[in-house]
Amino acid sequence: MTGNDFRDRLEALDRCSYQAYKSLRGEHPFAGFTLHVDSVQGDPFAAPSRLRVVVPQSIAGFPASLYTTASRRIALEDYLLRQFHQQAQVYSRHRGSGKSGLITIAPPSQAMLSRTAVTVSETSVEVRFAVGLPAHGRRIAGQQAAELLCDDLPKLVEHAVSYSQPYATAIQAQGEAAETADWLRDQLSDRQLIAFVADGAILPRFSGVDERSLGSAAVPFQSPASLRVSLTRSNGEPITGMGIPRGITLIVGGGYHGKSTLLKAIEQGIYNHVPGDGREQVVTTATAVKVRAEEGRSVTGVDVSPFINHLPQGRSTQQFSTADASGSTSQAANIIEAVEAGATALLLDEDTSATNFMIRDRRMQALIAKAQEPITPFIDKVRQLYNDHGVSTILVMGGSGDYFDVADTVIALNEYQAADVTAQARQIAADDRTERQAEGGQVFGHLSPRVILPESIDPQRGHRAVSLKVRATDEIRLGLTAIDLSAVEQLVEPGQVKAIAAALVYAQQHYLDGERSLVAVLQAVAADIVAHGLDCLSDQFNGEFAAFRMQEFAAAINRLRTLKTASSAAASQQRG
Ligand code: ADP
Ligand code: MG
Repeated sequence: MTGNDFRDRLEALDRCSYQAYKSLRGEHPFAGFTLHVDSVQGDPFAAPSRLRVVVPQSIAGFPASLYTTASRRIALEDYLLRQFHQQAQVYSRHRGSGKSGLITIAPPSQAMLSRTAVTVSETSVEVRFAVGLPAHGRRIAGQQAAELLCDDLPKLVEHAVSYSQPYATAIQAQGEAAETADWLRDQLSDRQLIAFVADGAILPRFSGVDERSLGSAAVPFQSPASLRVSLTRSNGEPITGMGIPRGITLIVGGGYHGKSTLLKAIEQGIYNHVPGDGREQVVTTATAVKVRAEEGRSVTGVDVSPFINHLPQGRSTQQFSTADASGSTSQAANIIEAVEAGATALLLDEDTSATNFMIRDRRMQALIAKAQEPITPFIDKVRQLYNDHGVSTILVMGGSGDYFDVADTVIALNEYQAADVTAQARQIAADDRTERQAEGGQVFGHLSPRVILPESIDPQRGHRAVSLKVRATDEIRLGLTAIDLSAVEQLVEPGQVKAIAAALVYAQQHYLDGERSLVAVLQAVAADIVAHGLDCLSDQFNGEFAAFRMQEFAAAINRLRTLKTASSAAASQQRG
């Protein structure tokens, strides 16, 4: 019987030195699937071995209708990953020293992402995971290995990777949720919207460290009548909710009334969410970027002159660089960089913004002359940003009514209930003038493309040509440098950060030539991923990649402390 040869081999390895596991590399036929041993750990304490099972569709039995559209395929793969993750916890247990006996697969977030851990095709389903090959000390535990791989793994695969009830209904529901969310997101641009929050959506999360829905304790979202839109798919019921129009939108309201929660849901609306999350029908334009103040970050060669001018000591603001940005300069750089990376909407929260970047009121204007203030506040640029570059802004602002002058839409939250208060805010702005001077000029100002020089990215560490490490969603260690991503808030899974880390090295090897602009490099890498899949980025992190946006890829490049840039020829010509 298939699988039995493998059992014999494992038992024969009993008490051999751990190195002997290397002989297992390659393909092994089982009843119902093929097991691939892709890499074998050096010892039971090292990072676990990478394995893969390939189940033919003749056995897995997923109907083609579940994976013919991209939305549905990603939803199905996501579902199978969740299933495998859950089952792996059942069969994973210590069977010797170190990581012996563990079966792991990266746990998914609430978002349905395309990932390399699970691939469904017409011919097969492939699942990649990690296993701690069992040992006692440095001697192979052959019996435990046989139980793990020949008894437990087949059960795990059968449970997690086959089309049967009760999974079929759940898979169907997840596919529909993904398809509906993608459809809703597609509707935004035709309707001149940048976000849609469906009636009944549950926005608050279980806790600050648990992204699951708050559930029945939450007040479901209800759209104000004047902002209500109704979207109807050809085969479905109408979906009603609040449409946030292009332009400038303020979210106002008292403290603790749900403003930041609404903005966070909009931030995450770039992803599709699993059924039960509460945000399945909260969708945001795909290139929306959350920007915030990020004191201490490095900034390299960014033209922040739309916001910052005549710095002390005559420092350039057209190619602004610093190893230690202030709250306001970091926020200015974050905005310019987001727009460079293709953002068509910016999301800002007063909670994480620099006050002096957001406003400069009349009294302050009277005390500190414009000539002595390098910063042009966002309030004086937000309109030009939209008019000149088509970049909308959604801003949580409970603290300053000065913004009423520049807002197209004002949404108030009261006891988590949204109301459209645009007309009242306009009336107040007309009756009670701020008398502040607009300081932003008529135009937003230059957006100067940058060229990333190849020496920016050096993955070497000691004699290792490529050294990449990732910590959760907030740090990449590339060679000798660390990239701090803790302020890049729309990353949700370590797999995205692993893929971005690999993409940095990939970009350096393939596209950083000292001439291509940053945007051209981003586009070239994105095109390769579309054509060849995330696997093309690197062999490292095999099966651990998750899809990421070019905006977050750019954010990682921009936070490299070794970044070196030049302004592109086009930019310098323009400047004359
Ligand atoms: P704000 O930004 O207005 O100060 P937050 O968005 O931070 O308020 O929300 C304050 C608290 O209320 C948070 O603990 C949040 O989880 C909770 N919350 C937000 N929206 C809802 C809701 N719709 N139902 C129940 N609780 C909510
Ligand atoms: Mg808040």
